[in-house]
Amino acid sequence: MMFSKFKGLRNSAILPVMSLLFLGLSACSQESAEVAEPAATAPASSTTAATIQSGVTDENLANAANSGEEWLSYGRDPGETRFSPLDQVNYSNVQNLGVAWTYDTGSFRGLEATPLVHDGIMYATASWSVVFAVDARTGEELWRYDPQVDRSLGWKACCDVVNRGVAIYDDKVFAGIIDGRLVALDAATGDVVWSEVTVDQSKPYTITGAPRIADGKVLIGNGGAELGTRGYLTAYNPDNGDIDWRFWVVPGNPADGYENEDVEFAAATWAGNWWEAGGGGNPWDSIIYDPELRLVYVGTGNGSPWSHEHRSEGFGDNLYLSSIVALNVDDGSVAWYYQTTPADNFDYTAVQPLMLTEITINGLPRKVVMQAPKNGFFYVLDAETGDLIYADPYAQVTWASGVDLESGRPIETPQARYDDAISFLTPGPSGAHNWHPMSFSPDTGLLYVPTMQGGAFPYSYDENWEVESAGWNLGIGMGTMVDKAVRPDEEYAGGTGPVYDSPGVLLAWDPVARAPRWVKEYDFTINGGTLATAGNLVFQGGADGYFRAFTADFGELVWEADLGVGIMAAPMTYELDGIQYVSVLVGWGGSSGLIGPNSSGAYKPEGRLWTFRLGGSEIIPVEGMPLPQLTAIEFNDDPAVLAHGEDMYTTHCMLCHGAGGASGGALADLRYAAPATYDIIQNVVREGAFAGRGMPNLGHLLSEDDVDAVKNWLLSLRAGLME
Ligand code: CA
Repeated sequence: MMFSKFKGLRNSAILPVMSLLFLGLSACSQESAEVAEPAATAPASSTTAATIQSGVTDENLANAANSGEEWLSYGRDPGETRFSPLDQVNYSNVQNLGVAWTYDTGSFRGLEATPLVHDGIMYATASWSVVFAVDARTGEELWRYDPQVDRSLGWKACCDVVNRGVAIYDDKVFAGIIDGRLVALDAATGDVVWSEVTVDQSKPYTITGAPRIADGKVLIGNGGAELGTRGYLTAYNPDNGDIDWRFWVVPGNPADGYENEDVEFAAATWAGNWWEAGGGGNPWDSIIYDPELRLVYVGTGNGSPWSHEHRSEGFGDNLYLSSIVALNVDDGSVAWYYQTTPADNFDYTAVQPLMLTEITINGLPRKVVMQAPKNGFFYVLDAETGDLIYADPYAQVTWASGVDLESGRPIETPQARYDDAISFLTPGPSGAHNWHPMSFSPDTGLLYVPTMQGGAFPYSYDENWEVESAGWNLGIGMGTMVDKAVRPDEEYAGGTGPVYDSPGVLLAWDPVARAPRWVKEYDFTINGGTLATAGNLVFQGGADGYFRAFTADFGELVWEADLGVGIMAAPMTYELDGIQYVSVLVGWGGSSGLIGPNSSGAYKPEGRLWTFRLGGSEIIPVEGMPLPQLTAIEFNDDPAVLAHGEDMYTTHCMLCHGAGGASGGALADLRYAAPATYDIIQNVVREGAFAGRGMPNLGHLLSEDDVDAVKNWLLSLRAGLME
């Protein structure tokens, strides 16, 4: 399975487009349909009303691993192992899973949250940062909070207006809002207790991650490194929203002074005017906390812009980009850091899920922090010191031939720096693993990692890049769209890692043997997060809309159910009144859901929260909406006009409205637009007529003739659908 060649991965004529499919890029905010009224369906027979019995304490959180009844934080326990000791549902009876209840979320976009359960109440989030609480026995809605995000700001969200969930502490529920707010809600009523704006809202910051609790503080980061921001993590007082401390991932303009010694230390690893494009490093997902060591671990993001040459004149490691950083919980100061990708040149974030647990190394138990970040290497670090113990490729890697365990630095291949020619590199910007949570079973000693091998991505330095204040800041040429030669085959060298036979795999990784134990291959690249249980089970949803269970030890498929809609989120499990439930949020979207096809095949399906139990009712997949009836509309079929229209669409519309004119399902499929919409298309595109629904005004990018050409090209596709 060792790396041998990657020539075959990069010979397709459609590669630039395919690469974009895997890129994790878009700036889209349009809502495809009005948000529907949510409704609980198929309630179970229980008559017990859910009420808040007690607030969640630091002690509850610290001991969360010991009992399977509740699920109190994003990754279930402080180390976020996502392992449940429940075994009522197990490998021998999982075939009897049926529906306990469902809750229709009112969302038609990506659902990424892990629900939490406390005192018989389930808390979760939907797109546009909507928070809801339901009775965990019946799915009956208890309250719903819509933060009323201005839809015209959705363009700031690189990868859909998603949200990964809430935190609970004391009697409050905390949620990050896509526009940069952090809100504290009354857990019993959903009423706002306090709300703080955590970012400069004039800049393209977003929040998609779940807040975490550490030593009585609420922690939240932000995203925005693709568009040009300076990333940071902030600790808030849960009672009143006061800032306790802030960790700046990258330095700002030295002329403004350094906020603290850690920032000053980092600044020595930068050059040029890096602050003009923000520098990036945004920690938009992983945060874990060790109450014993009193350390907060945070994963940091990629550089802004992507190109190291543009960002820092090709100089320095650019701390603390693409790093695992341990912070002292009392003041947010850096205890240690480990940089996975020095001088990031690839969008190789290290924000991917972090895990803290004990494994046996050289015969002795050792507390470690583990991560499978985008760059393709699986890292095992000493949790107390940050010393690198292992770094092994878990997927094909061509930007480096390995990691030197002495220095802790990757050994870059010659093609990793692409300033003079276009380099095709693996992993691409969406990584060998992204935010989709991994889990760890202490019974098997295995990690279950949603792994991707989406093909080699063409990285190309763009000499013409300049800082863009309200748009993308990558500094690269988006595939082969720069006037540059592709690096000749003979200039590629090195590379490492297992090569899989499919674009998406469920990888059971043995961190002690430092190798895959078993692998399940899927037809689609991006699949859901995982849950491991003491029932010798691993649960995972697929992009194809199937929810599956495998035996944790050998990876045997023991159950699957068609839910009808692609699954991204991680499942969770809990126990109430002696019954084990398994829940998962199902809604397709994210960057791939905007640009790529809806792999489940359903047209604009509503996202649903599903909960299963043994002996539950029949599983009936969600159906999408019926395809609209098409009426013929005349168009100009001049080939030159159509070609120009396709070109303009691909450049300015595709990342949101889908490749080939076809929406991935999350946003409007323009081929099916109402005739009246075509009548006003100039107003929509060039004057912002649908800005309130999230379609930005692109008048500065597209002329009247350009829009007319796009319209004619789309109408030609529409005519093709009617044949
Ligand atoms: Ca990124």
